[in-house]
Amino acid sequence: MKQETKCLHAGYSPKNGEPRALPIYQSTTFKYDSTNHIGKLFDLTAAGHFYSRLSNPTVEAVENKIAALEGGIAAMCTSSGQAASFTSLATIMKAGEHFISTATIYGGTVNLFAVTMKRFGIECTFVDADASEEEIQKAFRPNTRAVFGETLANPALTVCDIEKLARIAHKNGVPLIIDNTFPTPILCRPIEHGADIVIHSTTKYMDGHALCVGGVIVDSGKFDWTNGKFPEFTEPDESYHGTIYSKAFGPAAYIVKARVQLMRDLGMTPSANSAFLLNLGLETLAVRMPQYSRNGQKVAEFLSKHPKIESISYPGLEGDKYHELAKKYLPDGCAGVMSVVIKGGRDGAARFLDAFQLATQCVHVADIRTCALHPATSTHRQLTDEQLAACGIPQGLVRVSIGLENVDDIIADLSQALEKV
Ligand SMILES: *Cc1c(COP(=O)(O)O)cnc(C)c1O
Repeated sequence: MKQETKCLHAGYSPKNGEPRALPIYQSTTFKYDSTNHIGKLFDLTAAGHFYSRLSNPTVEAVENKIAALEGGIAAMCTSSGQAASFTSLATIMKAGEHFISTATIYGGTVNLFAVTMKRFGIECTFVDADASEEEIQKAFRPNTRAVFGETLANPALTVCDIEKLARIAHKNGVPLIIDNTFPTPILCRPIEHGADIVIHSTTKYMDGHALCVGGVIVDSGKFDWTNGKFPEFTEPDESYHGTIYSKAFGPAAYIVKARVQLMRDLGMTPSANSAFLLNLGLETLAVRMPQYSRNGQKVAEFLSKHPKIESISYPGLEGDKYHELAKKYLPDGCAGVMSVVIKGGRDGAARFLDAFQLATQCVHVADIRTCALHPATSTHRQLTDEQLAACGIPQGLVRVSIGLENVDDIIADLSQALEKV
């Protein structure tokens, strides 16, 4: 099946007389006839659901759809994108270990890596994604367990050279984990470029309608966990009566371990109802992504020529620092998010946002409706002007997320708002 078809049909195929739409299995538990059968479920020797913290039929259908869209062998949905980022690493890391991440990633992920995981004894070295392979190699240590990057960074809009990072990770015997939230598998499929694990905040374009916070981890099934660096896959798991994941589950060892250990113990479970709503978003994803990109491209071209705009970051623009990488990794478009610096600093940005008539101010991004956010007065409000400058956020920076309204209406609104600056 092609992507458009997978969006509609992958993950759920009703049998004769069953509901055409994906049913919501609103049940914490499932009924079985024998202790023997339940025993087999716990032993992981029979497939089936027994408790919705671990798995649920509605959630599973959505997991299978996303795995198919990304070209992975299996996926696990989580209650948020943050839970997916954390679990993707925690499945293969413990206190005293280390991983490498590119520096231009989502701010919430920076905090998770630099502060919270550090408190757990897991250290992260941040590297410049544009640095040479030799430079990035210097960050590796004997206890380095993974490399992490973001395809199209929120909000920096840098494009990650996935093939370069995959080469470096694999040379060092560790997996590459890619956060593919902004492109979605419609605009980029990191596994085709060498990524081993792909994660998403499904809250953004996948859901698309600002309905449910959620996340997902997709396993390519391609990484060799028996290479000697990952004994937790080749030695018995005492917390699961001696299961050896690589032996019992072969290429699906990672995603099974993520579920039966981390999901079991931490419980960042999505609800069946949320999975149902996410599925509605996924059904139209292949239609929406190219349209966000067309609208985004037109708005970016308009803004890039506007006298009230100091600068704009959107990799679809010719002359953008990441335009060449975008042509390689995002040939079908760069979605709808862009960062613009409004003239007049903090005050200029506030005048622009406060004059919106159609677009809305929201702490959100990648929504079906055009929205925008001013980091200096919201997400980064606690920072001084000096601190803002240090993390590369000019006072006049606004993150604009172009929706699916008619592009002429969007441009008309942004245009009248810029007149107030
Ligand atoms: C929003 C976001 C996250 C965090 O996801 P939540 O669903 O808000 O927990 C992670 N990565 C990226 C790129 C994001 O945009």
